[in-house]
Amino acid sequence: MIKTEPDQYQEIRDAVRALCAQYPDEYHRRIDEQRAYPEAFVDALTKAGWMAALIPQEYGGSGLGLSEASVIMEEINRSGGNSGACHGQMYNMGTLLRHGSTAQKEHYLPRIASGEWRLQSMGVTEPTTGTDTTKIKTTAVKKGDRYVVNGQKVWISRVQHSDWMILLARTTPLADVKKKSEGMSIFMVDLRQAEKSGMTVRPIPNMVNHETNELFFENLEIPEENLIGQEGRGFKYILDGLNAERTLIAAECIGDGYWFLDRVTKYVNERIVFGRPIGQNQGVQFPIADAYIEVEAANLMRYKACELFDAGLPCGAQANMAKYLAAKASWEAANACIQFHGGFGFANEYDVERKFRETRLYQVAPISTNLIYSYVAEHILGMPRSF
Ligand SMILES: Cc1cc2nc3c(=O)[nH]c(=O)nc-3n(C[C@H](O)[C@H](O)[C@H](O)COP(=O)(O)OP(=O)(O)OC[C@H]3O[C@@H](n4cnc5c(N)ncnc54)[C@H](O)[C@@H]3O)c2cc1C
Repeated sequence: MIKTEPDQYQEIRDAVRALCAQYPDEYHRRIDEQRAYPEAFVDALTKAGWMAALIPQEYGGSGLGLSEASVIMEEINRSGGNSGACHGQMYNMGTLLRHGSTAQKEHYLPRIASGEWRLQSMGVTEPTTGTDTTKIKTTAVKKGDRYVVNGQKVWISRVQHSDWMILLARTTPLADVKKKSEGMSIFMVDLRQAEKSGMTVRPIPNMVNHETNELFFENLEIPEENLIGQEGRGFKYILDGLNAERTLIAAECIGDGYWFLDRVTKYVNERIVFGRPIGQNQGVQFPIADAYIEVEAANLMRYKACELFDAGLPCGAQANMAKYLAAKASWEAANACIQFHGGFGFANEYDVERKFRETRLYQVAPISTNLIYSYVAEHILGMPRSF
C-alpha cells in the first residue's frame, strides 16, 4: 500500500480493513461476474455495527459522525470492494433521523441498527424528468388514512436487497404550488409489501454490478403514518440529505483512487520491459504522480465537507466540490492504472477493469458533473440561474 499519514481515524480504519481483508479480490470478482449481491460482506459489515455508524446510540447505533462514516466507506473501496452495494443506508437513514417523528425513529432505527431491516433504497429519479426533479410525475393522493401512489421511477438501486425505500412523490400538483420545490412529500415504503400490492420491479442490466431498477406504481397504498415530516416539504428533506450523500461518495472515490494508485505503483515497479521497470520511465511516472496529487487534494476537500457537516454548518459547496474533485481524481487514477497495466488491465483477474467501471459511475450519479458546475456557478459565484 502507498503510504498515507496516520490520522485520528486509524482505529476505525484498522477494524474495517481487518473485516474487508476477509473478503479478498476473488470474492468481489466472483460477485461481479455473477452479477450477484455481496450478501455475506454486507451482513458482516452490519453485524460489526458499521452500517449503523450514523444511528444515535439511544436507537442502537454507534452515534458516530459523517467523518467516521466516510472513513468506513473509503476503506471498503480501498480494500477492492464497492460501497455502492450498501452506502444507501448511511444517507437514507439521515433523512429519517432529521425529519422523522419520535414514533417513526423508535419504530425503524433500532431495527435498522440491529440489521433486522435494511433501508438501502431511495426513489427519486424518473424516466421523463431526469435531473429536473421538481417536475416528477409520480403522485401520492390522500384517500382516507392512506396515500395512493401512481407513476414510475428509474435507476432505483438496491430495491431487491432492501426492506424499505424512501420515496419522493408529488402530493400537490405543480400547477397548484407557489414554488416548484413545494408540494412533494417523502414516504417510507415497505418494499416486500409493495411488491404484492401495486409496485412492479424491473431490473436494469448495466455496466457495473449495481442492482438498480425501474419501478412502476399502480395504485400502491401507503399508510399515512409512513409520511416523513410534513406533507409538501419532501423535496427540502431530500436536499438536506444530499450533502451527506455527496461527501460519502467523495470518500468512496478517494478509496478507489488509493486502490488504483496502490495497484499501479506496485505493477510499474515490478513489470520489466526493455530491460528495466516500466516505472523508471517518466512518461509512466508523471500521470501516476499527477493522479496521486489530485487524490490527495480532493481528500482535503472531503475532510472539509465532513468537518462542516459534523459541526452542523452549511456545507453544500464543500460537499459538491468534494464529490466533483474526488470523482475526477479517482477517474484519473483509474485511467493511469489501466493504461500502465497494458493488456493485463483488461483481464478480469487483475480487478482493474472492474474497479475502472465502478468508479466511472460517479461522474454521472448521484449527480452529474455538469450539475455541480451549475451549482457552483449559480450559488457560489452568483451567476444567473440557467434552469
Ligand atoms: C447505476 C445507477 C444507480 C442509480 N441509483 C439511483 C437511486 O438509487 N435513486 C435515484 O433516485 N436515482 C438513482 N440514479 C439516477 C441518477 O441519480 C441519475 O442518473 C443522475 O442524477 C442523472 O440523471 P439522468 O440520468 O436523468 O440524466 P439527465 O438529467 O437526463 O442528464 C443527462 C446529461 O445531461 C446533462 N444535463 C442535463 N441538464 C443539463 C443542464 N441544464 N446543463 C448542463 N448539462 C445538463 C447532465 O449533466 C447529464 O450528463 C442512479 C443512476 C445510475 C446510473
